[in-house]
Amino acid sequence: MQRLRDLSRLVEAVFNELSESFGEYQKRRGLDCVSGCGACCNNPAIEATPLEMLPLALRLYDEGRAEQVFAELEIYSGFACYHFQRASLDGSQGQCGVYQERPAICRMFGAAGYGGKDGKIQISTCKPIKATHPQQYADSLIAMESDPPPMLRHGKERVKQLDYDLGKQDMPINQALKYVLEKVMMQAYFFGADDPHGWDDGSRVA
Ligand code: SF4
Repeated sequence: MQRLRDLSRLVEAVFNELSESFGEYQKRRGLDCVSGCGACCNNPAIEATPLEMLPLALRLYDEGRAEQVFAELEIYSGFACYHFQRASLDGSQGQCGVYQERPAICRMFGAAGYGGKDGKIQISTCKPIKATHPQQYADSLIAMESDPPPMLRHGKERVKQLDYDLGKQDMPINQALKYVLEKVMMQAYFFGADDPHGWDDGSRVA
């Protein structure tokens, strides 16, 4: 399983880059997420690749919760990301329960660029942000050429290139977690769990 742990560290390094570049754009343009808003997470159709869920799957495994979460995901019929912690009945308010390990898509979708049908770059952002920061949104559209948003596609590619097999397919976020949890548990079963702190390079004194 050490290979998955090494891969996870690479994924986390890319996550940090994405958080920095996408977060920095969002802040610079004044397109911050609305405080306490959970609208994006309140949707199980959000897609991620299993690779994006690997750091979370390993954390769950190390905490001894992999089997339990896998079993719950098998029968999960909720209307949100499994890790969304609702703070309102309709789910419009809430917070991420796994913020440190959240997948790439969650680090990018506040305000990001995508290619429109006409080939021009558009800003992908949500209704709550547009409604809360209308002027900043309008200014960002005007400044599109001089200050373009970081592209979603490039962010996805940065992660995917680390492991084509686990990164090639987007799937609903809960399904992506289930997929990679199974992979982690299988690897641990057949090859052992290895050291969660990465000391299996022979440097540790026996
Ligand atoms: S992982 Fe966290 S941020 Fe991403 S959709 Fe789920 S609850 Fe929201």
